Amino acid sequence: MDNLCSLTIAQAHEKLRKKEISSEELTQACIDRIAAVDSRLNAVVFNGAEMAMEQAKAVDAAGDFSSPLAGIPYLTKDVYCEAGVPTTACSNVLRDKTYVPPFDSTTTTRLKKAGALSLGKVNTDEFTMGASTETSCYGVTRNPWNTDCVAGGSSGGSAAAVAADECLFALGTDTGGSIRQPAGYCNCAGIRTTYGRTSRYGVMSMASSLDTIGPIGKSVEDLAIILGAIAGKDSLDATTADVPVPDYRKALTGNVKGLTIGIPKEYFVDGMNAEVEGAVREAAKVLESLGATLKEISLPHTEHATPAYYVICPSEVSSNMARYDGVRFGHTTSGAADLRSYYEEARSSGFGAEVKRRIMIGTYALSAGYFDAYYRQAQKVRALIKRDFDDVYSAGVDVILSPVSPTPAFKVGAHQDDPVAMYLEDIFLDSQVMAGIPAMSVPCGFSKDGLPIGLQIMGKQWDEATVLRAGHAYEQATEWHKQKPTL
Ligand code: GLN
Repeated sequence: MDNLCSLTIAQAHEKLRKKEISSEELTQACIDRIAAVDSRLNAVVFNGAEMAMEQAKAVDAAGDFSSPLAGIPYLTKDVYCEAGVPTTACSNVLRDKTYVPPFDSTTTTRLKKAGALSLGKVNTDEFTMGASTETSCYGVTRNPWNTDCVAGGSSGGSAAAVAADECLFALGTDTGGSIRQPAGYCNCAGIRTTYGRTSRYGVMSMASSLDTIGPIGKSVEDLAIILGAIAGKDSLDATTADVPVPDYRKALTGNVKGLTIGIPKEYFVDGMNAEVEGAVREAAKVLESLGATLKEISLPHTEHATPAYYVICPSEVSSNMARYDGVRFGHTTSGAADLRSYYEEARSSGFGAEVKRRIMIGTYALSAGYFDAYYRQAQKVRALIKRDFDDVYSAGVDVILSPVSPTPAFKVGAHQDDPVAMYLEDIFLDSQVMAGIPAMSVPCGFSKDGLPIGLQIMGKQWDEATVLRAGHAYEQATEWHKQKPTL
Protein backbone atom coordinates (compact mmCIF):
# COMPACT_ATOMS: atom_id res chain seq x y z
CA MET A 1 0.00 0.00 0.00
CA ASP A 2 3.01 2.31 0.20
CA ASN A 3 2.51 4.00 -3.13
CA LEU A 4 -1.10 5.04 -2.63
CA CYS A 5 0.00 8.64 -3.03
CA SER A 6 0.96 7.97 -6.65
CA LEU A 7 -2.62 7.09 -7.64
CA THR A 8 -4.65 9.39 -9.84
CA ILE A 9 -7.91 10.73 -8.39
CA ALA A 10 -9.90 8.37 -10.63
CA GLN A 11 -7.88 5.35 -9.45
CA ALA A 12 -8.03 6.31 -5.77
CA HIS A 13 -11.76 6.96 -6.03
CA GLU A 14 -12.37 3.44 -7.31
CA LYS A 15 -10.47 1.98 -4.36
CA LEU A 16 -12.21 4.23 -1.84
CA ARG A 17 -15.62 3.45 -3.27
CA LYS A 18 -14.99 -0.29 -3.05
CA LYS A 19 -13.65 0.25 0.48
CA GLU A 20 -10.32 -1.33 -0.53
CA ILE A 21 -8.57 1.63 1.07
CA SER A 22 -9.63 4.36 3.47
CA SER A 23 -9.14 8.10 3.09
CA GLU A 24 -7.06 7.94 6.26
CA GLU A 25 -4.60 5.52 4.60
CA LEU A 26 -4.48 7.61 1.46
CA THR A 27 -3.91 10.81 3.40
CA GLN A 28 -1.25 9.18 5.58
CA ALA A 29 0.56 8.03 2.44
CA CYS A 30 0.75 11.65 1.23
CA ILE A 31 1.86 12.89 4.65
CA ASP A 32 4.62 10.26 4.72
CA ARG A 33 5.68 11.17 1.21
CA ILE A 34 5.93 14.86 2.13
CA ALA A 35 8.08 13.90 5.14
CA ALA A 36 10.31 11.76 2.91
CA VAL A 37 10.93 14.08 -0.05
CA ASP A 38 9.95 17.66 0.63
CA SER A 39 13.21 18.70 2.28
CA ARG A 40 14.77 18.22 -1.18
CA LEU A 41 12.03 20.09 -3.04
CA ASN A 42 10.72 22.82 -0.74
CA ALA A 43 7.24 22.63 -2.21
CA VAL A 44 5.21 22.64 1.02
CA VAL A 45 5.19 25.91 2.99
CA PHE A 46 2.44 25.05 5.46
CA ASN A 47 2.01 21.43 6.46
CA GLY A 48 -1.60 20.78 7.43
CA ALA A 49 -1.19 17.08 8.24
CA GLU A 50 -3.27 17.24 11.40
CA MET A 51 -6.24 19.04 9.90
CA ALA A 52 -6.11 16.71 6.89
CA MET A 53 -6.17 13.60 9.07
CA GLU A 54 -9.15 14.93 10.99
CA GLN A 55 -11.03 15.51 7.75
CA ALA A 56 -10.01 12.10 6.40
CA LYS A 57 -11.38 10.38 9.50
CA ALA A 58 -14.63 12.31 9.16
CA VAL A 59 -15.00 11.29 5.50
CA ASP A 60 -14.28 7.64 6.35
CA ALA A 61 -16.79 7.74 9.18
CA ALA A 62 -19.47 9.18 6.91
CA GLY A 63 -18.63 6.41 4.41
CA ASP A 64 -20.15 8.23 1.42
CA PHE A 65 -17.81 8.01 -1.56
CA SER A 66 -20.32 8.91 -4.24
CA SER A 67 -18.42 12.12 -5.05
CA PRO A 68 -15.25 11.40 -7.05
CA LEU A 69 -13.36 13.79 -4.75
CA ALA A 70 -14.54 12.33 -1.43
CA GLY A 71 -11.52 11.63 0.75
CA ILE A 72 -8.99 12.89 -1.83
CA PRO A 73 -6.08 14.92 -0.36
CA TYR A 74 -4.78 17.98 -2.20
CA LEU A 75 -2.41 20.92 -1.71
CA THR A 76 -3.19 24.57 -2.34
CA LYS A 77 -1.07 27.36 -3.72
CA ASP A 78 -0.39 29.79 -0.89
CA VAL A 79 -2.67 32.51 -2.31
CA TYR A 80 -6.01 30.75 -1.71
CA CYS A 81 -7.65 31.75 1.55
CA GLU A 82 -8.75 28.92 3.82
CA ALA A 83 -10.30 29.84 7.15
CA GLY A 84 -7.85 29.26 9.98
CA VAL A 85 -4.98 28.26 7.66
CA PRO A 86 -1.94 30.58 7.28
CA THR A 87 -1.91 32.23 3.84
CA THR A 88 1.07 34.40 2.98
CA ALA A 89 1.37 34.66 -0.85
CA CYS A 90 4.96 33.66 0.00
CA SER A 91 5.63 37.33 0.78
CA ASN A 92 7.21 38.78 3.91
CA VAL A 93 4.36 41.29 3.83
CA LEU A 94 2.00 38.55 5.03
CA ARG A 95 4.46 36.03 6.47
CA ASP A 96 5.57 38.46 9.14
CA LYS A 97 2.78 38.10 11.78
CA THR A 98 1.39 35.28 9.62
CA TYR A 99 -1.90 36.27 8.00
CA VAL A 100 -4.65 33.76 8.86
CA PRO A 101 -7.79 34.42 6.82
CA PRO A 102 -11.15 34.25 8.58
CA PHE A 103 -12.88 32.94 5.43
CA ASP A 104 -12.56 30.40 2.60
CA SER A 105 -12.10 30.94 -1.12
CA THR A 106 -15.03 29.74 -3.22
CA THR A 107 -12.84 27.06 -4.80
CA THR A 108 -11.68 25.53 -1.52
CA THR A 109 -15.27 25.71 -0.25
CA ARG A 110 -16.50 23.83 -3.33
CA LEU A 111 -13.75 21.24 -2.96
CA LYS A 112 -14.64 20.76 0.68
CA LYS A 113 -18.29 20.22 -0.27
CA ALA A 114 -17.13 17.59 -2.77
CA GLY A 115 -15.28 15.83 0.06
CA ALA A 116 -11.67 16.70 -0.89
CA LEU A 117 -9.33 17.48 1.98
CA SER A 118 -6.63 20.09 2.28
CA LEU A 119 -3.12 18.98 3.21
CA GLY A 120 -1.78 22.52 3.43
CA LYS A 121 -0.11 25.18 1.34
CA VAL A 122 2.52 25.09 -1.38
CA ASN A 123 5.15 27.52 -2.57
CA THR A 124 4.71 30.23 -5.20
CA ASP A 125 6.60 33.23 -6.46
CA GLU A 126 5.81 36.23 -4.23
CA PHE A 127 2.18 37.20 -4.98
CA THR A 128 2.51 34.87 -8.02
CA MET A 129 4.95 37.19 -9.84
CA GLY A 130 7.53 35.07 -11.62
CA ALA A 131 8.18 31.97 -13.68
CA SER A 132 10.45 29.98 -11.35
CA THR A 133 9.19 30.19 -7.74
CA GLU A 134 12.50 31.91 -6.96
CA THR A 135 10.87 35.14 -5.73
CA SER A 136 9.19 33.35 -2.80
CA CYS A 137 10.17 34.47 0.70
CA TYR A 138 10.50 30.75 1.54
CA GLY A 139 13.17 30.14 -1.12
CA VAL A 140 13.02 28.26 -4.40
CA THR A 141 11.06 25.05 -5.09
CA ARG A 142 13.19 22.47 -6.91
CA ASN A 143 12.18 20.33 -9.85
CA PRO A 144 11.60 16.67 -8.85
CA TRP A 145 13.13 15.58 -12.20
CA ASN A 146 16.38 17.40 -11.49
CA THR A 147 16.78 19.32 -8.27
CA ASP A 148 19.36 21.65 -9.85
CA CYS A 149 16.50 23.02 -11.96
CA VAL A 150 13.48 25.15 -11.13
CA ALA A 151 10.01 23.61 -10.98
CA GLY A 152 8.72 26.61 -12.93
CA GLY A 153 6.37 29.23 -11.61
CA SER A 154 4.59 30.79 -10.21
CA SER A 155 2.71 27.58 -9.25
CA GLY A 156 6.04 25.73 -8.89
CA GLY A 157 5.11 24.33 -5.49
CA SER A 158 1.84 22.93 -6.88
CA ALA A 159 3.49 21.22 -9.86
CA ALA A 160 6.46 19.84 -7.90
CA ALA A 161 4.13 18.47 -5.20
CA VAL A 162 1.95 16.68 -7.77
CA ALA A 163 4.93 15.33 -9.73
CA ALA A 164 6.53 14.06 -6.51
CA ASP A 165 3.27 12.40 -5.37
CA GLU A 166 2.99 14.53 -2.23
CA CYS A 167 -0.73 14.88 -2.97
CA LEU A 168 -3.23 13.68 -5.58
CA PHE A 169 -3.70 17.13 -7.08
CA ALA A 170 -2.94 20.78 -6.35
CA LEU A 171 -4.53 24.14 -7.00
CA GLY A 172 -2.67 26.82 -8.91
CA THR A 173 -3.33 30.20 -10.48
CA ASP A 174 -2.54 31.31 -14.02
CA THR A 175 -2.20 35.00 -14.81
CA GLY A 176 0.42 34.65 -17.53
CA GLY A 177 1.18 30.95 -17.62
CA SER A 178 1.66 30.04 -13.97
CA ILE A 179 -0.31 26.79 -14.15
CA ARG A 180 0.78 25.66 -17.61
CA GLN A 181 4.53 26.36 -17.39
CA PRO A 182 5.26 24.56 -14.08
CA ALA A 183 2.97 21.69 -15.13
CA GLY A 184 5.02 21.41 -18.33
CA TYR A 185 8.33 21.57 -16.45
CA CYS A 186 7.27 18.82 -14.02
CA ASN A 187 5.40 16.37 -16.32
CA CYS A 188 1.93 17.18 -14.97
CA ALA A 189 -1.37 18.12 -16.57
CA GLY A 190 -2.59 21.64 -15.77
CA ILE A 191 -5.42 23.77 -17.12
CA ARG A 192 -6.04 27.49 -17.26
CA THR A 193 -9.77 27.98 -17.67
CA THR A 194 -11.63 30.62 -19.67
CA TYR A 195 -11.54 33.91 -17.78
CA GLY A 196 -14.78 33.90 -15.76
CA ARG A 197 -15.18 30.10 -15.70
CA THR A 198 -13.73 29.63 -12.20
CA SER A 199 -14.19 31.94 -9.23
CA ARG A 200 -11.35 34.14 -7.99
CA TYR A 201 -13.16 34.92 -4.74
CA GLY A 202 -10.80 34.48 -1.80
CA VAL A 203 -7.71 34.14 -3.99
CA MET A 204 -5.18 36.96 -3.60
CA SER A 205 -5.20 39.07 -6.75
CA MET A 206 -2.22 39.81 -8.94
CA ALA A 207 -3.67 41.30 -12.16
CA SER A 208 -7.44 41.17 -11.93
CA SER A 209 -8.32 41.16 -15.64
CA LEU A 210 -5.89 38.29 -16.31
CA ASP A 211 -5.98 36.11 -13.16
CA THR A 212 -7.59 32.68 -13.37
CA ILE A 213 -7.51 29.73 -11.03
CA GLY A 214 -7.31 26.06 -11.86
CA PRO A 215 -5.90 22.62 -11.08
CA ILE A 216 -2.64 20.76 -11.68
CA GLY A 217 -3.05 16.97 -11.71
CA LYS A 218 -1.66 13.60 -12.75
CA SER A 219 -3.99 13.08 -15.71
CA VAL A 220 -6.42 14.95 -17.92
CA GLU A 221 -9.26 12.86 -16.50
CA ASP A 222 -8.37 14.18 -13.04
CA LEU A 223 -8.50 17.77 -14.33
CA ALA A 224 -11.99 17.05 -15.69
CA ILE A 225 -13.08 15.71 -12.29
CA ILE A 226 -11.74 18.76 -10.43
CA LEU A 227 -13.18 21.27 -12.91
CA GLY A 228 -16.55 19.57 -12.55
CA ALA A 229 -16.48 20.47 -8.86
CA ILE A 230 -15.05 24.00 -9.02
CA ALA A 231 -16.25 25.60 -12.29
CA GLY A 232 -19.29 27.80 -12.62
CA LYS A 233 -20.93 31.06 -11.65
CA ASP A 234 -20.21 32.39 -8.18
CA SER A 235 -22.32 35.17 -6.69
CA LEU A 236 -19.21 36.29 -4.76
CA ASP A 237 -17.19 36.96 -7.94
CA ALA A 238 -18.92 39.27 -10.41
CA THR A 239 -16.49 38.31 -13.17
CA THR A 240 -17.74 34.71 -13.24
CA ALA A 241 -20.30 34.08 -15.97
CA ASP A 242 -23.55 32.20 -15.96
CA VAL A 243 -22.47 29.78 -18.67
CA PRO A 244 -23.62 26.17 -18.16
CA VAL A 245 -20.86 23.82 -16.96
CA PRO A 246 -20.89 20.65 -19.07
CA ASP A 247 -20.10 17.21 -17.70
CA TYR A 248 -16.37 17.33 -18.40
CA ARG A 249 -15.83 13.66 -17.72
CA LYS A 250 -18.43 12.73 -20.32
CA ALA A 251 -16.53 14.86 -22.82
CA LEU A 252 -13.58 12.44 -22.55
CA THR A 253 -14.70 10.16 -25.34
CA GLY A 254 -11.20 9.24 -26.49
CA ASN A 255 -12.35 10.22 -29.96
CA VAL A 256 -10.84 13.12 -31.90
CA LYS A 257 -12.16 12.17 -35.34
CA GLY A 258 -13.38 15.24 -37.15
CA LEU A 259 -11.52 17.65 -34.89
CA THR A 260 -9.53 20.36 -36.68
CA ILE A 261 -6.28 21.18 -34.92
CA GLY A 262 -4.51 24.44 -35.74
CA ILE A 263 -0.70 24.55 -35.82
CA PRO A 264 0.24 28.24 -35.55
CA LYS A 265 3.36 29.09 -37.53
CA GLU A 266 4.31 31.89 -35.11
CA TYR A 267 4.98 29.30 -32.37
CA PHE A 268 7.47 27.33 -34.47
CA VAL A 269 10.31 29.67 -35.35
CA ASP A 270 13.82 29.25 -36.71
CA GLY A 271 16.34 28.53 -34.01
CA MET A 272 13.82 27.18 -31.53
CA ASN A 273 14.83 24.32 -29.22
CA ALA A 274 14.91 21.23 -31.42
CA GLU A 275 13.83 18.80 -28.71
CA VAL A 276 10.80 20.92 -27.83
CA GLU A 277 9.84 21.38 -31.47
CA GLY A 278 10.31 17.66 -32.17
CA ALA A 279 8.17 16.55 -29.23
CA VAL A 280 5.32 18.92 -30.08
CA ARG A 281 5.32 18.07 -33.81
CA GLU A 282 5.31 14.38 -32.87
CA ALA A 283 2.32 14.99 -30.57
CA ALA A 284 0.47 16.62 -33.46
CA LYS A 285 1.15 13.51 -35.56
CA VAL A 286 -0.24 11.28 -32.81
CA LEU A 287 -3.49 13.27 -32.81
CA GLU A 288 -3.57 13.12 -36.60
CA SER A 289 -3.18 9.35 -36.48
CA LEU A 290 -6.19 9.26 -34.14
CA GLY A 291 -8.34 10.93 -36.78
CA ALA A 292 -7.89 14.69 -36.24
CA THR A 293 -7.07 17.02 -39.12
CA LEU A 294 -4.01 19.26 -38.81
CA LYS A 295 -4.16 22.72 -40.33
CA GLU A 296 -1.38 25.29 -40.50
CA ILE A 297 -2.70 28.60 -39.18
CA SER A 298 -1.43 32.08 -38.43
CA LEU A 299 -1.96 34.17 -35.29
CA PRO A 300 -0.25 37.28 -36.61
CA HIS A 301 -0.09 39.37 -33.42
CA THR A 302 1.56 36.66 -31.30
CA GLU A 303 4.89 38.50 -30.97
CA HIS A 304 3.16 41.44 -29.27
CA ALA A 305 1.50 39.38 -26.53
CA THR A 306 4.34 39.28 -24.02
CA PRO A 307 5.25 43.00 -24.33
CA ALA A 308 1.56 43.94 -23.92
CA TYR A 309 1.20 41.54 -20.98
CA TYR A 310 4.16 43.18 -19.22
CA VAL A 311 2.38 46.56 -19.44
CA ILE A 312 -1.11 45.43 -18.43
CA CYS A 313 0.01 43.01 -15.71
CA PRO A 314 2.23 45.44 -13.74
CA SER A 315 -0.40 48.18 -14.12
CA GLU A 316 -2.98 46.00 -12.41
CA VAL A 317 -0.36 44.75 -9.93
CA SER A 318 0.41 48.34 -8.89
CA SER A 319 -3.24 48.83 -8.04
CA ASN A 320 -3.76 45.47 -6.29
CA MET A 321 -0.63 45.77 -4.16
CA ALA A 322 -1.77 49.14 -2.78
CA ARG A 323 -3.80 47.37 -0.09
CA TYR A 324 -0.65 46.02 1.59
CA ASP A 325 0.13 49.26 3.35
CA GLY A 326 1.32 48.00 6.72
CA VAL A 327 -1.89 49.15 8.39
CA ARG A 328 -4.53 46.64 7.42
CA PHE A 329 -2.54 43.40 7.22
CA GLY A 330 0.70 41.81 8.24
CA HIS A 331 4.10 43.45 8.03
CA THR A 332 4.49 46.70 9.97
CA THR A 333 7.35 48.97 10.88
CA SER A 334 8.16 51.07 13.92
CA GLY A 335 9.59 54.51 14.49
CA ALA A 336 8.31 56.20 11.31
CA ALA A 337 8.12 59.99 11.63
CA ASP A 338 4.73 60.36 9.91
CA LEU A 339 2.10 58.35 8.06
CA ARG A 340 3.72 58.73 4.65
CA SER A 341 7.09 57.48 5.86
CA TYR A 342 5.29 54.69 7.70
CA TYR A 343 3.81 53.47 4.40
CA GLU A 344 7.14 53.88 2.64
CA GLU A 345 9.08 51.96 5.25
CA ALA A 346 6.52 49.16 5.64
CA ARG A 347 6.26 48.61 1.89
CA SER A 348 10.00 48.98 1.17
CA SER A 349 10.96 46.45 3.80
CA GLY A 350 8.05 44.07 3.17
CA PHE A 351 7.99 43.54 -0.60
CA GLY A 352 10.67 41.72 -2.59
CA ALA A 353 12.44 43.09 -5.68
CA GLU A 354 10.10 41.67 -8.36
CA VAL A 355 6.96 43.01 -6.68
CA LYS A 356 8.57 46.44 -6.29
CA ARG A 357 9.71 46.41 -9.92
CA ARG A 358 6.13 45.77 -11.09
CA ILE A 359 4.63 48.38 -8.77
CA MET A 360 7.02 50.96 -10.25
CA ILE A 361 6.50 49.94 -13.90
CA GLY A 362 2.73 49.80 -13.40
CA THR A 363 2.48 53.11 -11.60
CA TYR A 364 4.48 54.70 -14.41
CA ALA A 365 2.37 53.12 -17.15
CA LEU A 366 -0.84 54.34 -15.51
CA SER A 367 0.29 57.87 -14.72
CA ALA A 368 -1.15 60.93 -16.47
CA GLY A 369 0.64 61.54 -19.75
CA TYR A 370 1.78 57.93 -20.12
CA PHE A 371 -1.52 56.13 -19.81
CA ASP A 372 -2.41 56.56 -23.51
CA ALA A 373 1.08 55.64 -24.68
CA TYR A 374 1.35 52.45 -22.62
CA TYR A 375 -1.74 51.09 -20.91
CA ARG A 376 -4.30 52.08 -23.54
CA GLN A 377 -1.97 50.96 -26.32
CA ALA A 378 -1.47 47.57 -24.65
CA GLN A 379 -5.25 47.17 -24.36
CA LYS A 380 -5.57 47.81 -28.10
CA VAL A 381 -2.95 45.13 -28.77
CA ARG A 382 -4.92 42.82 -26.51
CA ALA A 383 -8.02 43.31 -28.68
CA LEU A 384 -6.01 42.44 -31.80
CA ILE A 385 -4.68 39.26 -30.22
CA LYS A 386 -8.19 38.21 -29.29
CA ARG A 387 -9.29 38.89 -32.87
CA ASP A 388 -6.53 36.57 -34.18
CA PHE A 389 -8.07 33.70 -32.20
CA ASP A 390 -11.64 34.64 -33.17
CA ASP A 391 -10.68 34.55 -36.86
CA VAL A 392 -9.02 31.15 -36.62
CA TYR A 393 -11.80 29.57 -34.60
CA SER A 394 -14.53 30.95 -36.84
CA ALA A 395 -12.68 29.42 -39.80
CA GLY A 396 -13.34 25.97 -38.34
CA VAL A 397 -10.36 25.29 -36.06
CA ASP A 398 -11.39 23.53 -32.80
CA VAL A 399 -8.17 23.55 -30.78
CA ILE A 400 -4.64 24.88 -31.30
CA LEU A 401 -1.35 23.14 -30.42
CA SER A 402 1.93 24.70 -29.39
CA PRO A 403 4.82 24.14 -27.02
CA VAL A 404 4.26 25.30 -23.42
CA SER A 405 7.76 26.76 -23.02
CA PRO A 406 10.64 27.49 -25.37
CA THR A 407 12.96 25.13 -23.44
CA PRO A 408 12.72 22.49 -20.71
CA ALA A 409 13.22 23.64 -17.08
CA PHE A 410 16.21 25.93 -16.55
CA LYS A 411 18.77 25.85 -13.75
CA VAL A 412 18.06 27.59 -10.44
CA GLY A 413 19.59 31.08 -10.65
CA ALA A 414 19.90 31.11 -14.46
CA HIS A 415 17.83 34.30 -14.85
CA GLN A 416 18.77 35.82 -11.53
CA ASP A 417 20.19 39.05 -12.95
CA ASP A 418 17.96 39.33 -15.97
CA PRO A 419 14.26 40.00 -15.31
CA VAL A 420 13.53 40.29 -19.04
CA ALA A 421 14.88 36.77 -19.67
CA MET A 422 12.48 35.59 -16.97
CA TYR A 423 9.59 37.46 -18.65
CA LEU A 424 10.42 35.75 -21.95
CA GLU A 425 9.71 32.39 -20.32
CA ASP A 426 6.02 33.22 -20.91
CA ILE A 427 6.46 33.81 -24.63
CA PHE A 428 3.96 31.07 -25.64
CA LEU A 429 1.65 31.63 -22.67
CA ASP A 430 0.52 35.25 -22.78
CA SER A 431 -1.66 35.31 -25.93
CA GLN A 432 -4.24 32.97 -24.38
CA VAL A 433 -4.40 35.25 -21.34
CA MET A 434 -4.95 38.32 -23.53
CA ALA A 435 -7.77 36.50 -25.34
CA GLY A 436 -9.27 35.00 -22.16
CA ILE A 437 -9.35 31.50 -23.68
CA PRO A 438 -8.71 28.14 -21.97
CA ALA A 439 -5.38 26.37 -22.42
CA MET A 440 -3.93 23.18 -21.00
CA SER A 441 -0.49 21.69 -20.59
CA VAL A 442 0.01 17.93 -21.00
CA PRO A 443 3.23 15.87 -20.93
CA CYS A 444 4.58 15.13 -24.43
CA GLY A 445 8.16 13.94 -24.02
CA PHE A 446 11.55 14.36 -22.38
CA SER A 447 14.77 16.09 -23.35
CA LYS A 448 17.92 13.99 -23.65
CA ASP A 449 18.78 15.28 -20.16
CA GLY A 450 15.62 13.70 -18.81
CA LEU A 451 13.59 16.89 -18.34
CA PRO A 452 9.87 16.91 -19.20
CA ILE A 453 8.47 18.75 -22.25
CA GLY A 454 4.93 20.14 -22.25
CA LEU A 455 2.35 20.33 -25.03
CA GLN A 456 -0.08 23.25 -24.93
CA ILE A 457 -3.66 22.74 -26.17
CA MET A 458 -5.71 25.94 -26.51
CA GLY A 459 -9.46 26.09 -27.01
CA LYS A 460 -12.36 28.42 -27.70
CA GLN A 461 -13.82 30.57 -24.94
CA TRP A 462 -15.90 28.38 -22.58
CA ASP A 463 -14.89 25.24 -24.48
CA GLU A 464 -12.68 23.54 -21.89
CA ALA A 465 -14.53 20.34 -22.82
CA THR A 466 -12.91 20.05 -26.27
CA VAL A 467 -9.48 20.93 -24.86
CA LEU A 468 -9.87 18.16 -22.29
CA ARG A 469 -11.16 15.74 -24.92
CA ALA A 470 -8.14 16.28 -27.17
CA GLY A 471 -5.69 16.09 -24.26
CA HIS A 472 -7.30 12.95 -22.89
CA ALA A 473 -7.24 11.20 -26.29
CA TYR A 474 -3.55 12.10 -26.64
CA GLU A 475 -2.83 10.78 -23.14
CA GLN A 476 -4.61 7.50 -23.89
CA ALA A 477 -2.33 7.02 -26.88
CA THR A 478 0.94 7.87 -25.08
CA GLU A 479 2.84 6.94 -21.93
CA TRP A 480 4.55 10.25 -21.04
CA HIS A 481 2.19 11.19 -18.20
CA LYS A 482 2.89 7.86 -16.48
CA GLN A 483 6.61 8.57 -16.06
CA LYS A 484 7.69 9.36 -12.50
CA PRO A 485 10.83 11.11 -11.25
CA THR A 486 13.23 9.19 -9.01
CA LEU A 487 13.61 10.99 -5.74
N1 GLN B 1 5.50 34.46 -15.44
C1 GLN B 1 4.35 35.29 -15.44
C2 GLN B 1 4.61 36.54 -14.64
O1 GLN B 1 5.58 36.61 -14.01
C3 GLN B 1 3.17 34.55 -14.98
C4 GLN B 1 2.73 34.74 -13.59
C5 GLN B 1 1.42 34.12 -13.29
O2 GLN B 1 0.78 33.52 -14.16
N2 GLN B 1 0.99 34.26 -12.05
O3 GLN B 1 3.83 37.43 -14.67
